[in-house]
Amino acid sequence: MNSDQKISSLLRKNIRNMKPYSSARNEYSGNAEVFLDANENYRSFFTVPVNRYPDPLSRELVEKISRWKGLEPENICITNGSDEAIDLIYRAFAEPASDNALIMPPTYGVYQVFAELNNVETIRVPLQEDFSIDVEGLSILFDHRDFVHTLKLLFICSPNNPTGNAMNKDDIAGLVQSFPGIVVVDEAYQDFSSSPSCIDLVKDFQNLVVLQTFSKAWGMAGARVGMTFSSPDIIQVLHKIKYPYNVSKLSQHAALEALDKREEVLRGIEEIKNSREQLAHSLKELPYVEHVFPSDANFLLVRVTDADKLYEELKHHEIVIRNRSSQYMCSGCVRITVGSPAELDRLIETMKKIQL
Ligand SMILES: *Cc1c(COP(=O)(O)O)cnc(C)c1O
Repeated sequence: MNSDQKISSLLRKNIRNMKPYSSARNEYSGNAEVFLDANENYRSFFTVPVNRYPDPLSRELVEKISRWKGLEPENICITNGSDEAIDLIYRAFAEPASDNALIMPPTYGVYQVFAELNNVETIRVPLQEDFSIDVEGLSILFDHRDFVHTLKLLFICSPNNPTGNAMNKDDIAGLVQSFPGIVVVDEAYQDFSSSPSCIDLVKDFQNLVVLQTFSKAWGMAGARVGMTFSSPDIIQVLHKIKYPYNVSKLSQHAALEALDKREEVLRGIEEIKNSREQLAHSLKELPYVEHVFPSDANFLLVRVTDADKLYEELKHHEIVIRNRSSQYMCSGCVRITVGSPAELDRLIETMKKIQL
């Protein structure tokens, strides 16, 4: 995208023109002593006081993340998981029944689901055989003037779910420059990867959105806290269109607490990375395992002789894995999360007894 192209010109017209809801907490954020402006109850019946509405912009959390990531608070939006951010991006930029989003299967299913939910058609440019981005195919597509003006969003998942590989950062940077719309880089698994994050590119490209989450490495999938990093123009739009109180007080509190335990979290990540390599090693010794794909994430994509049967057999032993064999380019594949050492021991012992 050219630097003189304004984000506002990419926005849907109704979004550009809408006046956001202004909550009581938006309008007054000072240090008053009596708050009678939001029809809250002055009592809390829950152990943690939740009788007051949360900060709509999760400002304390944003400040802390800003120091951690070396970005300005203006570059950060907190959402109810990354999934909320994906939906918001569709709503902001993709005109229903006319604009398109580009996705690269096999990838995270939510991009397609939210496209359908928002009545946006997807264009699919599959990953190459080694699961890297088909940069050449994309550049040919971008040269087609007739539909480039409806192409608003490009989703890149890195490390990619379900294939596990990180994408080449230079490829991504090149796409951010050449793509005429918004490029979303979903880094849900970045903490497990040895490849560099794209978060620093946010300072250089206003059409780049990087998504990270507390759901995976931070062990907080149940709290629903996602981080969006982007240019101030895009962050402002997300703030304008999100639910006024999208992240609960409990979740904001949990994320703030987690950030104080960063060393523990980092140790946990190292443990998972070690277990991942051990698990890959054990899986490769099983007779029906054809291939264990390299992984930059906390899961392994594994090709076996009969994925449906393996899935059923394991389910029979009360172990659930993800059958991905119906996904494009993933025939015969299952996805296995790197669980605790005890869980993985049980998985391997059970798999040894199974015959496909
Ligand atoms: C798990 C996952 C997420 C995280 O979503 P949350 O809503 O933050 O829990 C995002 N993207 C991908 C590719 C994932 O696999």
